[in-house]
Amino acid sequence: MNSVLVKMNSKKRIALVAHDNKKEELLQWAKYNSGTLKSHELFATGTTGRLLSDALGMKIKRMMSGPVGGDQQLGAKIAEGKIDILIFFWDPLEPQPHDPDVKALLRIAVVWNIPVASNRASADFLISSHLFNSEYERNVTLSIRR
Ligand code: PGA
Repeated sequence: MNSVLVKMNSKKRIALVAHDNKKEELLQWAKYNSGTLKSHELFATGTTGRLLSDALGMKIKRMMSGPVGGDQQLGAKIAEGKIDILIFFWDPLEPQPHDPDVKALLRIAVVWNIPVASNRASADFLISSHLFNSEYERNVTLSIRR
């Protein structure tokens, strides 16, 4: 088993994603927390990103829309060490055409030990942690057998 420490800067690279039934909730959350979010670097899947930048004037690096590859693009960034935090309000009550991509994104976030919030309460706890705005070293264990 190989363990490495990955440093996260105080300015975090945050990925924001919401399924359609959860977009309004994410918009409300981001609006409420815009004061904190503006000092970080934001990424999002296509539609989520457009809604956030239209509603809040936030500068966001947009991927493709989730169902056509945006979730996979974010997953690749996590694996490359380019995303520190995932805020993903996924919908537990409706099947998604890109369910395998959703699962892959959630999985790779766990593999790389990045903080993930899947609902508003978790996102509230995450953003109110003092670690949100501090440096942090996360331990990544890659237990791939070769
Ligand atoms: P969207 O993608 O922001 O483009 O709607 C989100 C998703 O369903 O993964």
